[in-house]
Amino acid sequence: MDCIKCKAKTCRTAVACKAGKFDENQVLTEYTRTENQEIVQAAAKLVDNGRAGTLSRLQEIVEFANEMNYGKIGLAYCYGMENEAMLITNILRNKNLKVVPVSCTAGGLSQKEVNAKSQIENVSCNPISQALQLNHEKVDLTLSMGLCLGHDILFNRYIQSDVTTLVVKDRVHNHSPLKELKTK
Ligand code: SF4
Repeated sequence: MDCIKCKAKTCRTAVACKAGKFDENQVLTEYTRTENQEIVQAAAKLVDNGRAGTLSRLQEIVEFANEMNYGKIGLAYCYGMENEAMLITNILRNKNLKVVPVSCTAGGLSQKEVNAKSQIENVSCNPISQALQLNHEKVDLTLSMGLCLGHDILFNRYIQSDVTTLVVKDRVHNHSPLKELKTK
């Protein structure tokens, strides 16, 4: 499947194309599951009836968390963004959400302990401890905030809660990867 090259775009008119090799009946069955319906319906409330474009990502997270009755929100943040993480935590707490902020340095492991090819004694990002701590805290939803590429992959392997990305790290483009397109 190459949706970019496709000229027909029949899927945009709610008609499946022959390139799709998944079982449509299985997909429909998955959508009937209660846990998936909860997510779909809460997400729809953020954008349906003309609301699309009216809420920032953070405002969407607050509404989504309330709609889902989440008890605890995890904030898995990069230690380099600690000031911003503190501000985000305060905003969410002021909206009566319980927040568990956990730094990527949780556990205090050195780089040589984490990376078998490193001799560096300095503290390392430690996405596995970060995820295990949030699992221990039994958070309902985790916000991923500025985790390094690769560390975010490991974090997602170990975290047990649902995860949504609040900030994607891009050191060159002020954490906005689409800015790369303006340089082409
Ligand atoms: S019609 Fe098929 S190939 Fe074309 S954009 Fe839609 S899913 Fe992709």
